[in-house]
Amino acid sequence: MMRLLVMGPPGAGKGTQCVKLAERFGVPHISSGDLFRHHISNKTELGVTVQKYLDSGEYVPDEITTEMVRKRLDEPDATAGFILDGYPRTTGQVGDLDSMLATTASGLNKVVVVEVPDDDLVARLAKRAREQGRADDDENVVRRRVEVYQEQTAPVLDLYKKRGQVVEVTGLGSVEDVFDRIVTAVGA
Ligand code: ADP
Repeated sequence: MMRLLVMGPPGAGKGTQCVKLAERFGVPHISSGDLFRHHISNKTELGVTVQKYLDSGEYVPDEITTEMVRKRLDEPDATAGFILDGYPRTTGQVGDLDSMLATTASGLNKVVVVEVPDDDLVARLAKRAREQGRADDDENVVRRRVEVYQEQTAPVLDLYKKRGQVVEVTGLGSVEDVFDRIVTAVGA
């Protein structure tokens, strides 16, 4: 049973790696950011509520985020495991996820942190902004997203480190190289 959490700053390449990991392990890729963007493009009630947070690079409040992720984790395909991407990223959400997983057989296998130096992050996000036109890849919003990540998500990492679940992997190099490092690090 593969239950992985993948963390890393904006632009670390988490999303790409998570898609590959999901394929390799035959489990769904569950990305809170993708779920939000899906709601926004479908103009659901939730999408309308959260748009302002995504546009400004702020985190969506925990209650809203947790409720959305809970629904996704309750879908039948997630009982076989999952690659969780971008959730939890506040200490409140860690507690929420703990209680969601407490009702199932076991918790997370590992927490993978993809690490990339700040200068490379900014360059990668600028490139993605040019290529994909994601609204929150605008330079000022990027700066805010990196800041928010450092403020809010560092304590999440500390928490998982104390539990001995964290493996750190460098996100530099080719997509394949990073993928091989992650697979080795999770011991699969
Ligand atoms: P990145 O990690 O590159 O910033 P994501 O696609 O993971 O990109 O997230 C985009 C945005 O979605 C975040 O800036 C935030 O507004 C919102 N978001 C995603 N996951 C969460 C979460 N767990 N808690 C709060 N907000 C979130």
